[in-house]
Amino acid sequence: MGSENMQKEEKKETLALYRDRNVQNLLNKFLNGEIKTLEPVFNIQTGYHYHIVEKIVGDVSQVEPFLNKLYNAGIMERKLYDEVIFCPKCGSASVSFHYCCPFCKSFNIQKNSLIEHGKCGYMDIEPNFSKEDKLVCPKCHEELKKIGVDYTKAGIWCTCRDCGKSFDIPVPEHFCRNCNATSNFEEAIIKPVYSYTLSENVKPESFLDWLLIGAIKDFLIKEGLTVESPAFLKGKSGANHSFDIVACKGDKTKAIVLDLAMSTENIVSEQPVIALFAKIFDVSPERAFLIAVPKLNENGKKMAELYHIQAIEAENQDATIALLKQKLAAA
Ligand SMILES: [Zn+2]
Ligand SMILES: [Zn+2]
Ligand SMILES: [Zn+2]
Repeated sequence: MGSENMQKEEKKETLALYRDRNVQNLLNKFLNGEIKTLEPVFNIQTGYHYHIVEKIVGDVSQVEPFLNKLYNAGIMERKLYDEVIFCPKCGSASVSFHYCCPFCKSFNIQKNSLIEHGKCGYMDIEPNFSKEDKLVCPKCHEELKKIGVDYTKAGIWCTCRDCGKSFDIPVPEHFCRNCNATSNFEEAIIKPVYSYTLSENVKPESFLDWLLIGAIKDFLIKEGLTVESPAFLKGKSGANHSFDIVACKGDKTKAIVLDLAMSTENIVSEQPVIALFAKIFDVSPERAFLIAVPKLNENGKKMAELYHIQAIEAENQDATIALLKQKLAAA
């Protein structure tokens, strides 16, 4: 039972996210193809940025929590894109890597390839084979011709220019270009950075209604109306009725009410028409709209006409807004 409740809670949270205007904005960009994969862009001073999300959310510090919420709700999937190393002293992301001598910690080291001459088996660093623009074996004095055939590269050999010692594996160290502090792996603040894609199990239908409501709200506001969503209106009976959107020009007695009905079977039945009629019978708004996603059955259409409900079949967002605009203009 506990886990069932938790699932319900999660569902509710996910639905709440779909109602969030910022979430709708971002998901819309995925849906209309503007974004396929949300990838961060690097700034040497400030680290990675998701500019599109920053524009939507407004506050840069809210971008990460915003994306985390979408990831945790299963709306977005993420892939490790990079890791950013931050200076533990000043927090700058302008951190470079130094490869240091394991003996004296200097990063003033010379890195050389090791070359092995196949014929005589002699192995040494590359500079010792270099003769003008050729490679010649210092042991048997034969010219080296083709890598992988008569000679091979056998790894890397480093020499410290400060203490003179040689070694094969240098020790990495981070250098902050901002405050000049050095830090090692243990001290460094390392943060994963992700790229995001829309989760495959999020079907457009599952949030189309919320996206639509957002788009319709925006449209009505642009038309100069005061919009509430969801909204309650008191009827003659004294009962409060909820509508997905109520819009009015100041005076609530001349309200436009709008409900959205969705069907998972591709056609909306007459049921939401009846439900809307019961409410408008009590509330008497100026006009009533029912947006059916994606279609309304014949019975529903007939009843809508009878009840003076204007039905709009919403195949997509733009078409819905266009139809609504047309119907609003034809008062
Ligand atoms: Zn620093
Ligand atoms: Zn050294
Ligand atoms: Zn040789």
